[in-house]
Amino acid sequence: MPELPEVETVCRGIAPILEGRTLTDLVIRRPNLRLPFPEGMAEKLKSQVITTVGRRAKYILVRFANGAVLLIHLGMSGRMTIHDSGDAPEPGKHDHVDFITDGGKTLRFNDPRRFGLMALATEETLEGHRLLAGLGPEPLSNRFNGDFLVSALKTRGQPIKAALLDQTLVAGLGNIYVCESLFRSGISPRRKASTISGKKIRLLATTIVEVLREAIEAGGSSLKDHRQASGEIGYFQHNFAVYGREGEPCPDCTCDWQKNGGIKRIVQGGRSTFFCTNRQR
Ligand SMILES: [Zn+2]
Repeated sequence: MPELPEVETVCRGIAPILEGRTLTDLVIRRPNLRLPFPEGMAEKLKSQVITTVGRRAKYILVRFANGAVLLIHLGMSGRMTIHDSGDAPEPGKHDHVDFITDGGKTLRFNDPRRFGLMALATEETLEGHRLLAGLGPEPLSNRFNGDFLVSALKTRGQPIKAALLDQTLVAGLGNIYVCESLFRSGISPRRKASTISGKKIRLLATTIVEVLREAIEAGGSSLKDHRQASGEIGYFQHNFAVYGREGEPCPDCTCDWQKNGGIKRIVQGGRSTFFCTNRQR
């Protein structure tokens, strides 16, 4: 599932072909994804000039000169591919939307599982939009720092992992990067959030930013170095320390992994958590 760094990478990948361009055509091949497409979406956006591509949590925000804002969520399996319009392959079964620009490019949205969604807002209604209202601060914004996290977790009796996944506390953090940040900070995912020392919470805040920035940087190099032949963007090689590595030795750890079984997997709130019982307390 695409997490914040993947979504950020998609934004950075599609921005150069969308920004400053006019949407000459918008082809929508089915009535809905997870939700119905907004009524009249194609008519509302066609012939409009795209100003910027940005991100809020895991929503891609495509802004238009007329004040319209298109929100795109990639869901579980949403992907974007870029093609030369004259050379775009025949759309497949899961190619649901084509954005065609006057720059000769086609941006194609593909989503086999259809958990993605598109919604329309305006500059005025965006902040209060039901998909965005109530979201906590962006982890890469100035609002998110040690002081913020200490104060936000003070009253949280739930396990730290659950608290970090709560989108009203901080927006856009998902399972993978929460596991990785807790490992790197040496905090057990089972620890009650309110019982963790301020010093450790401050380290955690710094680590979350560091882990996300590293992943975004890896995504950035993937855009530069090897744009895939399929035109697909936003998916790149990851090096996770613990995520998905049950039973493997954990990196830079003194635990005797052959004796204690290496990285552990437990299920919290229906999601897998990967961690080291030696290093994370
Ligand atoms: Zn370990």
